[in-house]
Amino acid sequence: MDKDDAKKLPYPLIHPDVCKGCGRCISACPKNVLEMSEKFNGSSYHYAQYIGEGCIGCANCYYTCPEPLALEVHVQEKKKTTK
Ligand code: SF4
Ligand code: SF4
Repeated sequence: MDKDDAKKLPYPLIHPDVCKGCGRCISACPKNVLEMSEKFNGSSYHYAQYIGEGCIGCANCYYTCPEPLALEVHVQEKKKTTK
């Protein structure tokens, strides 16, 4: 990952063709940064999408999504601490 990508973290990554358009992630997001696309995926479902900014990486969307492969949340790696 390059520096430009790192600046955009955290962010959700939704896979349109796996999403079933249930909207749970949209309801669960405390920052209201997810929305339903007007487009359809390959299974004729509307799918959730990120508006592109404002994600705080809380992962509520990830934990509420019933589709195991539909949604990822990318956050900064924690720095290792040494004793
Ligand atoms: S990680 Fe949290 S803030 Fe980011 S899109 Fe998911 S629910 Fe919203
Ligand atoms: S909770 Fe999952 S399946 Fe439902 S709209 Fe969001 S990404 Fe799609």
